[in-house]
Amino acid sequence: MANGTLAVRDLSVSYGRAVRALRGVSLDVPAGSVTAVLGANGAGKSTLLRAVSGTLPFHRGAVDAGTVRLGDRSLIGLHPATVVAAGVVQVPEGRRVFGRLSVEENLRAGALGAPSRSEAARAHGRVLELFPVLAERARQRAGLLSGGEQQMLAIGRALMACPSVLLLDEPTLGLAPLMAERIAETVREINLQGTAILLIEQNAALALELSSSAHVLEVGAVALHGPSAELAGSDEVRRRYLGVGEDTGTEDGDAAGEITPPPALERWTG
Ligand code: ATP
Repeated sequence: MANGTLAVRDLSVSYGRAVRALRGVSLDVPAGSVTAVLGANGAGKSTLLRAVSGTLPFHRGAVDAGTVRLGDRSLIGLHPATVVAAGVVQVPEGRRVFGRLSVEENLRAGALGAPSRSEAARAHGRVLELFPVLAERARQRAGLLSGGEQQMLAIGRALMACPSVLLLDEPTLGLAPLMAERIAETVREINLQGTAILLIEQNAALALELSSSAHVLEVGAVALHGPSAELAGSDEVRRRYLGVGEDTGTEDGDAAGEITPPPALERWTG
């Protein structure tokens, strides 16, 4: 399995040669870490994942500039299946599973991306340990699972390809709080087992809790980045993304002085 840091450098992406969706985005996902990307609707989060997973052409998108590398290997221009074989596997937004296939057949479909049969067998054991409900429902049609169970299956299917980096697009979106918490626990567990994760989340509180570093995208560019714990403590992030502290201070009084990010937060100024 390929290893090393997933490194995105100065990445610019457009759709149909007209819509500029990313402008000079850089970030790292070091081996074994969790890096989060936050941002509002349309900020470019899904575009970033598409650029990494090689699926931009399916959306009439193209990389205009920049690089995406896993270790010393460039991923730009590779077919999505080759990106999977290189060790980078995406769980798409929206819990997409093959609804007419059984749970087990969905997992087997994921195993097509595994490096070998023995690794696929090991991955299968790992998935059923992480999600015992998938063993209970092995023969059930995936379309009949609950939303949370479908998300587990979507993550499980991605793990069957034995990724060194997992790309997760809004894994808790639309789930009830308890199920969202379970999925978050599993994301933690998957990471503890050694898989690096690039986590896209609109839920900033959750993303900052799960990750060691985070990037905030605004209109296609990185507006803020830094260690997640420091971002979570930054007044600007708390006010704008965590919805905390809106009532403190006055508009142009003391509160204005509190917006300065801590030194570790580098502001993108390009
Ligand atoms: P969301 O959370 O709503 O999915 P996002 O942060 O993932 O938002 P993107 O979906 O990456 O944002 O979209 C970034 C920009 O690119 C937006 O302006 C969006 O309208 C545009 N865009 C996305 N997909 C396409 C496409 N297939 N064709 C044209 N423009 C697109």
